[in-house]
Parts: sequence; C-alpha cells; structure tokens
Amino acid sequence: MRIAIYGNDNKSSSKVATELSELINKSEVLQIDELNPEVVISVGGDGTLLSAFHHYDDLTEKVRFVGIHTGHLGFYTDWRDNEVEKLVESLENDNGQSVSYPLLDIQVEYSDQGLPDKMVALNESTVKKLFGTMVAKVYIKDRLFENFRGDGLCISTPTGSTAYNKSVGGAIISPKFNAIQVAEMASINNRVFRTIGSPVIIPPTETITVVPKVSLHNVLTCDQLLVMDRPIKSITYGISQRRIYFAKYQHTHFWERVNNSFIGDNLND
Ligand code: NAD
Repeated sequence: MRIAIYGNDNKSSSKVATELSELINKSEVLQIDELNPEVVISVGGDGTLLSAFHHYDDLTEKVRFVGIHTGHLGFYTDWRDNEVEKLVESLENDNGQSVSYPLLDIQVEYSDQGLPDKMVALNESTVKKLFGTMVAKVYIKDRLFENFRGDGLCISTPTGSTAYNKSVGGAIISPKFNAIQVAEMASINNRVFRTIGSPVIIPPTETITVVPKVSLHNVLTCDQLLVMDRPIKSITYGISQRRIYFAKYQHTHFWERVNNSFIGDNLND
C-alpha cells in the first residue's frame, strides 16, 4: 500500500514522521509514495490535517486520511504520537475500512474579467470585510433571504461545526448529517437593519449565495487559506458531491470527541 506522510515543521512532528517512515520502509507491504498515495498520514494537529487535505485536493476521492496528533486530541486526528507501531500494524492489515464526511463546495465569481474559482473546504469558508461593515445580499436557493450587515458570515461543514462556526455561536452538527450551516458573525440588528439572527442549516438540495457589496476589503477564507486579491462578485455554497475519507482502524466517536474537547472532566452534579 502506498503511503504519504504529511507533517509540519514542528520538532515533535518531524520526530514522529521520521519514526513512521522508518517503520514503513522496513515493511514488506507498505511503501512511501508522496505523489500517488492511497493513504495520507498527517502528523501534527487539525491544522496539519487541513493542509494535507488541500495538498492532496485532486486525490480526495482516491485517498484515505489518517491523523496522528502530536499535541492535544484533535477533531481529525485519532492516533497519538506513541501509537506509531500500532498504526503501522493496522496499515499492514488494512482491508479498506473507511468513514467519510461531507465537504463544502465554494464557487466564486469575480467582478474582474478573470475566470471564476472553485474550491472545496473541509471545515468552513468565511466571507468578511477587513474593516468596516460587510454588506451582502444572502440568497437561499436563488431566492433573496436577507440583506446582511455585520462582520461576516461563516459557512461550515458538519465536521467544521466544532471549529470557527462554534466560536461564532453556530450549532454543533453530527457529521452523519449531509448539511451545511450558515452562522452570522456580529450581525447588525436594529429597527433599520434585520437579519435572521440565528444559525441556518441547509440540506444537500439547496445552495446559499452571498453577494457582497463590492469592496476591495472583502476577504474570503477556505479553511486556513485566504483569498483577497480579487474583487468578489458572488460566492455560492453547496454540499460537495465529493467527500473526505478517513481510514477507520481506530475511531473516536464524534460526540466523545466533542465531549473530550469542550467538556472534559467538568461533569460534576
Ligand atoms: P490552527 O491550526 O491554529 O487551528 C485553530 C484551532 O482550531 C486549533 O485549536 C484547532 O485544533 C482547531 N480546529 C481546527 N479544525 C477544527 C475542527 N474541525 N473542530 C474543532 N476544532 C478545530 O489554525 P489554522 O491552521 O489556521 O486552521 C484553520 C482553522 O482554524 C479554520 O478552519 C477555522 O475553523 C479555525 N479558526 C477558528 C477561529 C475561531 O474559532 N475564532 C478563527 C480563525 C480560524
């Protein structure tokens, strides 16, 4: 089986990546293949897994990911850094088991003459203005839903719902739902301006289109990536036909992960 190791510059990640690659090189059934892998092992944290996902963007449907965390338990990282040998054993005995999660399609049109962009996010996309109020029309399924004024909007996947979305008051959605969520970032609500004021959850049959008032200060993010050098005309969001696959050798249940990350031992009566 062809394996790629994707790490960050961190000292502890480099150490784990080296250990892993030595064990893979000794194996009779595994080989390192950074260009055309079947399994991508990310070594670091959730941020490293997000980078690995975007690095292997073209291969999303063909690869399965595995996340080793070298810090805290992450949302995309099931393996601890002291479990490398156990992971290599699981890879050697692989029978293709996987779990998959929804992704967010992002289609951006620009008001310059250039071509539109297509991107896919694992966590979320945000559209916001660097300074001043972002003004935007929001359409659900091509029908004008609201005129938004505020800091911005965060459109997330179910696995991304525990990230930026949660910080701006969005709901946590189990990744068993094929849905996307729109959460507001500091919307202005008074007698003059009105937005829905709560997170909105959209099914796979519908899309969200955001048409920001033209400004050079509008920015768009796709996970950890930033798009800010072209004038945005509109952004259309929908659930992707593609999904991300994780090799399911050892899997922490979603709600256990949520509990571990946000509640911990604070279960006193
Ligand atoms: P990073 O790696 O420092 O990540 C920031 C934090 O988000 C880390 O603690 C990471 O563990 C956590 N995180 C990432 N994905 C998560 C998920 N699906 N569920 C729960 N926590 C998650 O920074 P980066 O490399 O720039 O990562 C980009 C991500 O950071 C974005 O996709 C966004 O979700 C998150 N972010 C959060 C905020 C916020 O909460 N205010 C602001 C900006 C970015």
